[in-house]
Amino acid sequence: MSFRLSNRSRARMKGVHPDLVAVVEAAIALTPVDFIVTEGLRDAKRQSALVRSGASRTLNSRHLTGHAVDVAAVVDGHLRWDWPLYPRIAAAFKTAAVRAGVPIVWGGDWPRLRDGPHFELDRRHYP
Ligand SMILES: [Zn+2]
Repeated sequence: MSFRLSNRSRARMKGVHPDLVAVVEAAIALTPVDFIVTEGLRDAKRQSALVRSGASRTLNSRHLTGHAVDVAAVVDGHLRWDWPLYPRIAAAFKTAAVRAGVPIVWGGDWPRLRDGPHFELDRRHYP
């Protein structure tokens, strides 16, 4: 079974780099776990609020430049944050990225403060 990206998810990618949007579009066709896009481009005010709340550790987020998206797993119509779902979504993103020739980084691979819902374009190729 193949999932489809909702219009809402597409709307949330407004201002996101087209190469990352292409990876998201390809990933939804490959993933065994449905997902929505919860956030793409972020303004400085929102980023500051996230840092103040502890939800983010950096004022230098890739969301500020349209180089990152966050997703949420959807199982049977419900958002799920269970960790085991996210590596499965990430596998679809990684396959889609390799096929598109677009290097990405998954927040779940970070050694500290793993961020399972977060995907960004690799800074080494997209500064
Ligand atoms: Zn993020």
